[in-house]
Amino acid sequence: MTRPMAEMTWPEVADAVAAGATTLILPLGANEQHGPHLPLGTDSYRAEALADRLARVIPNALVAPTLPIGCSDEHHGFAGLLGLEHDTLAGVIVDCARRAAEWGVRHLVVVSAHGGNADALEIAALRLAHDLPNLRVTVLGGGTALADAVLAVAAADGIPAAAVGLHAGEGETSEMLALRPDLVRMNRATAGCRDGLKDIMPRLRRDGLRSVTSTGILGDATEACPDRGRRYLEAEIKAYRDILRKGPASGGLS
Ligand SMILES: [Zn+2]
Repeated sequence: MTRPMAEMTWPEVADAVAAGATTLILPLGANEQHGPHLPLGTDSYRAEALADRLARVIPNALVAPTLPIGCSDEHHGFAGLLGLEHDTLAGVIVDCARRAAEWGVRHLVVVSAHGGNADALEIAALRLAHDLPNLRVTVLGGGTALADAVLAVAAADGIPAAAVGLHAGEGETSEMLALRPDLVRMNRATAGCRDGLKDIMPRLRRDGLRSVTSTGILGDATEACPDRGRRYLEAEIKAYRDILRKGPASGGLS
C-alpha cells in the first residue's frame, strides 16, 4: 500500500483496512531555516520521502499527510520560522490518532524528520499509552540507530561526521539533492559550525542555533552529493525497518 491516503477515497481506505492495512504512517516535518541554500520545508520533504519509502517495504501501511509545522524554537532569530509548542504538536498527534483508531488503525508509526519534535513525541506517546492502550505506537526519528546508519554511509565515502552535521550540513543537503534538487541552492552552500555536539549543546539548548552558527548550518554543506543522499535515505529506511522488527528506539539529521 503506497498511495498517499490523501489521494484515496473513503471506500478505498475502508477496503484497505478490511484487507489488513491497519498501520498508519504519520510523517512529521518542520518549517524552519536550513541554511541559505535549503528550503524551510526541508524536514517536511524528507519526512514525506521517508514515509513513502517505508510504506513500500513494510506490509499493510497507509501514509497520512505530512504535518508541515513542528517544534522549532531552537531556530529563533532566523526569518521564516513557524512552530508549535510541544503540547500543541502532541495534541495534534493524539487527536489524529484518536480519529484513526476509530476507523481501524491499530499501529501508528510516526516518522519525524526533525529532532526538535522529540519532546512532543514523548508527550504524545505517554498520552496515547494512557488513552488508547490498544493502539501500538512506534516513533521513528533521530536516535542512535539512525545516526549510526547515516554515519556509516558517510564514513565509507570519507566524509567525517563533523561535515555531515546535524542541521543543513552535508547530510541533509545530500538528501535534498537526491529528493528535490530544484530546491537546493548549491551556489549558496557553505561550511558552518563543525564543532562536536557535546561542545555546543549547552549553548544550543540555552541560546539556540544562531548562537553557534550565523548561517544556520551545522556541518559542511559544500561536501553534499545526490548519490550519497540516496544512500542515506536507503540506510535510514533499513534502520527504520529493523527498529519496527525489534521494537522502539529513536536521533539523526534534523
Ligand atoms: Zn532538517
